Amino acid sequence: MSKILDLQIQCPNCRQQYQAKVFRTLWGDGCTAANFTSRLKDDTNIVPCPHCGYSFRVPLGLMYVDVKTGFAVWYEPQPDPNIDDEAKQYAAIFGADSYYAKAPRVKDWEEFKHTIRRYYTGELKATPITKFDFSSLKQQSSKSATPQKKSGCMGVLLLLLIPIALGIVLI
Ligand SMILES: [Zn+2]
Repeated sequence: MSKILDLQIQCPNCRQQYQAKVFRTLWGDGCTAANFTSRLKDDTNIVPCPHCGYSFRVPLGLMYVDVKTGFAVWYEPQPDPNIDDEAKQYAAIFGADSYYAKAPRVKDWEEFKHTIRRYYTGELKATPITKFDFSSLKQQSSKSATPQKKSGCMGVLLLLLIPIALGIVLI
């Protein structure tokens, strides 16, 4: 599935803030070299400022994935350490040689599209996933879920403790 993020953006032109939805992952299943730009549009992740109308592409990493054809490519306009982390997680789940872990990282938007096109034409070799390690996927998701769970419990616990403390004082 495509992953969409809600971002708080500061306009580089007028410095005002606004919210915008941007793609972090874009799935291109069923696309071809001829039609993939109907999914990956030239205005993908372009976020016009509602205050002054200034328009620009958010400098955020974007992964284009085609699971059926078997390839992934990162658009990485500026160095993004999160991509290093995600590549490690993908290596644990799908294998270090999987296209997810070895996805090329491309700085330029036109070059990004060109790289995707080369996978569809067969000029670059696509390799569908052969390994899927469910246990490491579980580990990854429980790792990220645990801290939230803890803080949630603490919140509830504090709320419960305060009325009890008040009750004691009143008695
Ligand atoms: Zn603006």
